[in-house]
Amino acid sequence: MSKPKFQTPTGMHDILPQDQVYYEKIQEVLKKVFSFYDFEKIDTPILEDANLFVRSVGENTDIVEKEMFTLRTKGKDFLALRPEGTASAMRAYIEHGFVSLPQPVRLWYYGPFFRYERPQAGRYRQFNQFGIEIIGEKDPIIDVQSILVMYSILHDLGLKNLMVKINSIGDDDCRSLYRKALVKYLREKKSTLCSDCQRRMKVNPLRVLDCKNEKCQETLSSAPQSVDYLCDECKKHLKDVLEYLDELKVPYCLDSRLVRGLDYYTRTVFEIISTRESENMGDALAGGGRYDNLSKMLGGGEAPACGAAAGVERIVSEMREIKAKVNFPSVPEIFFAQIGPLAKKKSLPILEDLRKAGIKVGEAFGKDALKAQLGKASRLGAKVVLILGQREALNNMILVRNMQTAKQVEVSQEDIIKEVKNILKEK
Ligand SMILES: [Zn+2]
Ligand SMILES: [Zn+2]
Repeated sequence: MSKPKFQTPTGMHDILPQDQVYYEKIQEVLKKVFSFYDFEKIDTPILEDANLFVRSVGENTDIVEKEMFTLRTKGKDFLALRPEGTASAMRAYIEHGFVSLPQPVRLWYYGPFFRYERPQAGRYRQFNQFGIEIIGEKDPIIDVQSILVMYSILHDLGLKNLMVKINSIGDDDCRSLYRKALVKYLREKKSTLCSDCQRRMKVNPLRVLDCKNEKCQETLSSAPQSVDYLCDECKKHLKDVLEYLDELKVPYCLDSRLVRGLDYYTRTVFEIISTRESENMGDALAGGGRYDNLSKMLGGGEAPACGAAAGVERIVSEMREIKAKVNFPSVPEIFFAQIGPLAKKKSLPILEDLRKAGIKVGEAFGKDALKAQLGKASRLGAKVVLILGQREALNNMILVRNMQTAKQVEVSQEDIIKEVKNILKEK
């Protein structure tokens, strides 16, 4: 078979009807968890000022350097398809003066995001993410609540073998000390690093820590660790976070290499992974951290905050893998069949009456032969078939056949709903 002329653009995909059950299940769980924890939904535009991400995510990150879809409008605005959600949420917080609301402000979002990535299995250039932002609170319990909310969502979706990886990358006071120590170490080992890392070492040394290259990983195994360079306040913050975590039944481990290389992170960073296949340490299911300086980086005031996001496609593939329980769409218990042109004409208004009464009805309007229509009714497993023949159409009557008892009665069209409800009650 030859390829169709038009296909989805590289790295973009259709979410087909048969896959929607997973996406609906995720929406359902999100609504429940977010409503309990009192998060309010925010939708921000898909396009933002590109500099919003340059300023916040950072100039020397993969996202901004390589992965942003940008465009110039006819009015010469420089816009980007949003690559992530936190910068937009903080932009909205500042723009709409949320600082005057009771703090913290708890926001959640869901929608498409865009990154120009190398095409590879499970990575998309347009993907869906949901996320949370808790803005205006510096208490470490908020960090753990962010972790818990994301963990609970994944757990309620049926995902098992979840593990939280956590680290502290310090704040402006102590991170520069750590960066210096790391750069010193990396310089000595420069020849063992991949060319990407040799470059990153100069512009964004923390990024080197999450290089996937095996040789780099080996070199990094004895690199200095950020937790050893934390100032007293950052140390206390991490200690509190770990103590709150200990109270939860959430498996976690300290991972000194976790940095989540975006410029806006401070102190706590975390990821939630699936340990289902121990050797397959793929992409994290969710990740986040604290970003106490982001508001100021974007020209706002003091607004310490913590948040997290999760990739929907990644979660769906995990749900599929473990055959997570989802609700398949309900099939109609009632089927409507028509015979002859007059009956066909009367069909749509009768179906509409049934819809208004909340009764789901199947049909096969494209087929005129009764046999073909009844074939579909039995494939659907319909309990009741309504048959409108030429004679019934003329007399305002309809045949109601109970498929379980094979009993058939003729009723007035006005009584269809009453009759159908009675039969459905009988079972
Ligand atoms: Zn490397
Ligand atoms: Zn510090």
